[in-house]
Amino acid sequence: MVDAEGFVEHIRKLVIANRGEIALRILRACHQLGIQTVALHSVADRDAKYVRLADESVCIGPAPAGASYLDIASVISAAEVTGANAIHPGYGFLSENADFAERVEQSGFIFVGPKAETIRILGDKISAIRAMREAGVPCVPGSNGPVPSEPQALVEMAREIGFPLMIKASGGGGGKGMRVCRDEQALVNAVQLTRKEAAAAFGNDTIYMERYLETPRHVEFQVLADSHGNAIHLGERDCSMQRRHQKVIEEAPAPGITDAQRAEVGGRCVEACRQLGYRGAGTFEFLYENGEFFFIEVNTRIQVEHPVTEMITGIDLLQEQIRVADGQPLRFSQEDIKINGHAFECRINAEDPQTFTPSPGRITNYHMAGGPGVRVDSHVYNNYVVPPYYDSMIGKVITHGMNRGDALLRMQGALQEMVVDGIRTNIPLHRELVTDPAFVAGGLDIHYLEKKLAGQ
Ligand code: ADP
Repeated sequence: MVDAEGFVEHIRKLVIANRGEIALRILRACHQLGIQTVALHSVADRDAKYVRLADESVCIGPAPAGASYLDIASVISAAEVTGANAIHPGYGFLSENADFAERVEQSGFIFVGPKAETIRILGDKISAIRAMREAGVPCVPGSNGPVPSEPQALVEMAREIGFPLMIKASGGGGGKGMRVCRDEQALVNAVQLTRKEAAAAFGNDTIYMERYLETPRHVEFQVLADSHGNAIHLGERDCSMQRRHQKVIEEAPAPGITDAQRAEVGGRCVEACRQLGYRGAGTFEFLYENGEFFFIEVNTRIQVEHPVTEMITGIDLLQEQIRVADGQPLRFSQEDIKINGHAFECRINAEDPQTFTPSPGRITNYHMAGGPGVRVDSHVYNNYVVPPYYDSMIGKVITHGMNRGDALLRMQGALQEMVVDGIRTNIPLHRELVTDPAFVAGGLDIHYLEKKLAGQ
């Protein structure tokens, strides 16, 4: 960051505006970079060990996230009293809130993420698709802009794109504001309904439509870009194992993606970063069907599943994300990025493995997995109380191996070793999934898990 006198100030003390495993992950990266840390926490997270591991901590409000982790004024004033000069938003909470990013910078802090203006462009689906098309990123065939309100024009446009269609709210997110439409009769109604929902939920009734893909996989590219115009990609991840649009298991690289496809699509993402002046870590999400990639969205933050990319590239993404926020040039060029072996990540949730109802409470017996190629990213420990107020994820088990089979064997072993008593977790479900012959074979589509759970 450069002040009015042209003095370059580096990140000295960083505020972690998040909780749980990602708060601990950010803290570890800062320790290795010699940066002081401030943990912000709600009343419910007061006793968490990572809060005590930080150099300083500030309580920012009561347990409900709306009054603490999502309260922009509380986060910024807490940062001000500590004399910190940077804020890391983690994932979720305020991480993709352009107004927050703007307030952070206006208040004189370094925001660990892209410029507010970039977050705004990419947060609106129509403007994001427009930016992707300009950079040559492959998109789903669609309306390329708002749909016409006049019914005849709407039907003609739909015919041109072809059914089935997906009607989407430009301001939508979190899997909301989307509707599949299979024929002309249902079209006008479907658009009207989505428009109403979008107006109520996002305060923006702009609607677009695109071809609905029946059996795609979810494949996403990791990028890193600095503020000097350099950008690289770090290959892709397959996150097709999902339930209700929530990822359950991720892996890298994605099965069956060739080096040529990786270079082509990754290169397009890098080009989009350059055109947008993107800064920081980011993820370009695609649906992948019949050998083709179709862009869906960019996540302008670090993601839960970043460790699988770290394992196969040997690069600490959190450290690099903080370095580029600090204004340093990227330390790697595209040629330096080599993919080594294969990695899996299982998200461990405090929930019933059958009904998926959350299962907060005290962990009475905790034993983690270990051994070669096994990594556990978690903030929990023996006697930790999982609070009922937040996302149910309590950690992630990551394994790395020379190839997919090797990494999978390590995951099967790691899941067998783990003991988390006192609460229910989805470990039994993971044990079943990682030995499911179809999963072992690889390349499943995004509907596989839900169909399996429904007994189909
Ligand atoms: P959100 O921002 O709400 O997460 P996305 O555009 O990322 O919305 O889409 C969420 C999910 O919806 C995708 O992961 C995919 O499962 C499904 N989806 C989105 N667009 C399409 C499409 N054109 N065809 C089929 N499925 C889609």
